[in-house]
Amino acid sequence: MNDHTILAEGRWQAAKNGETLAMIDPSEGHAFARIARGRAEDIDRAVASARRAYETHWRKVPGVERGRHLAKIAEAIRTHAEELATLEARDTGKPLKQARVDATVAARYFEFYAGAADKIHGDAIPFLSEYQVIAIREPYGVTGHIIPWNYPLQMGARTIAAALAAGNALVLKPAEEACLAVIRLAELALAAGLPADVLNLVTGLGEEAGAALAGHADIDHVSFTGSPEVGTLVQQAAARRNAGCTMELGGKSPQIVFADANLEAAVPTIVNAIIQNAGQTCSAGSRLLVERRVYDGVVGQVAERFAKLRVGPALADLDCGPMISAGQKKRVEGFLATAAEEGIPVLARAQFANDLPAGGYYVAPALYGPVPQSNRLACDEVFGPVLSAIPFADEDDAIRLANATAYGLTAGVWTENGGRQLRVAKGLKCGQVFVNNYGAGGGVELPFGGMKRSGYGREKGMEALHHLTTVKTVVLKHG
Ligand code: NAP
Ligand code: MG
Repeated sequence: MNDHTILAEGRWQAAKNGETLAMIDPSEGHAFARIARGRAEDIDRAVASARRAYETHWRKVPGVERGRHLAKIAEAIRTHAEELATLEARDTGKPLKQARVDATVAARYFEFYAGAADKIHGDAIPFLSEYQVIAIREPYGVTGHIIPWNYPLQMGARTIAAALAAGNALVLKPAEEACLAVIRLAELALAAGLPADVLNLVTGLGEEAGAALAGHADIDHVSFTGSPEVGTLVQQAAARRNAGCTMELGGKSPQIVFADANLEAAVPTIVNAIIQNAGQTCSAGSRLLVERRVYDGVVGQVAERFAKLRVGPALADLDCGPMISAGQKKRVEGFLATAAEEGIPVLARAQFANDLPAGGYYVAPALYGPVPQSNRLACDEVFGPVLSAIPFADEDDAIRLANATAYGLTAGVWTENGGRQLRVAKGLKCGQVFVNNYGAGGGVELPFGGMKRSGYGREKGMEALHHLTTVKTVVLKHG
């Protein structure tokens, strides 16, 4: 891959000023590729390209044909799945088996939205006797998309596929720290016959290319996935022209284990929910709430698994890879240092593989407990392989603790009691609840997004299409 990583006007280009950025392999800690450092002038070019595409041809393409384009892209992803997975693993540091799942899920997004593109329709609304009203569901036109580094392939696919299915032309700004697989995905999309100017992509830094995209006067809607802090900046930029946003922000999601839970199913899922992608997952199950009378037993079983986890380079394909960057490693270690100073008990710590590359950004997964609800480990998003166990007294206490953070993205509930499953699900303030299972990643059909500080609007499923389209009401008087 060369540094022509900006896609605009259907051509791969360098940044206008020729600047580049190094891409670091977090398993090794050194550069292995370069990308263009796009800035406002590159965003201008990409937005103009998307606008022209939308106005001159894309808006006239019917849903069925948009769907055919998406189906071809899905096929191309499946054909190149191993290449995409390897690139994603190398770029993000995640174990290869996890990146393989990401490639499959990316294909699933294109398949799902291929089938959805011709099923987006409005309404006929009853009105006065001499009238007919039709509410037409239309694309916004040109949408801007900003995604983070933790799942570039999945998140790139989910937002590109939905935007195109809805009929928008788009500009994507992937994260500077990992974007190579999504660049490759865009190449595959063009090779599969997608009209080249409909999908535009600008690599670069958040405060340069990202800010320019969010603040661009000709972007009709912004779809953002990332941190709450940057989400606020993006909303402020969009608010200057009163454009709408979809905000997918962070989480501090609880796994709630009642005394009657099936632990054989729960324990491995609970460990995976925090270890996946080294805990750098918005929907990571980072709090373990356990009914007090089974607390020691459950936490003991989780600790046993934690101690056996193997940490190593992405391509060694162990349980857990490195953090994305030196900065992220330092941030996570900061949490661990504070916990040590405050005397929060460590229940288990995973081991590093023997031949760990010296330059990689590794952090050994850690289980803490009991963590007081007032402690940072119980409320702040660590975005690392750190699980905080907290005992609860009863159902009401479980719901209270589960809702006791500023976030509200996902939750897991483990109980065999049917009434309790529903009561707890209804009591939780979050966007997705998993009962006796967990995992936000794979279900491309399932509306996903947050409540409270975790954001608003929804991605995934048919629901995403409502957030990428708008309604025009046509009032006809027929007399
Ligand atoms: P981040 O710093 O907010 O970055 C997200 C994206 O925003 C990146 O593309 C980044 O670009 C860009 N950006 C940075 N500053 C910007 C600005 N001033 N204007 C416009 N764009 C800007 O988040 P992150 O550290 O990459 O990701 C971690 C966070 O994302 C966590 O809080 C996590 O929970 C959340 N997340 C949420 C979801 C979800 O679906 N709810 C999914 C995954 C992650 P650069 O990186 O190139 O600077
Ligand atoms: Mg990288």
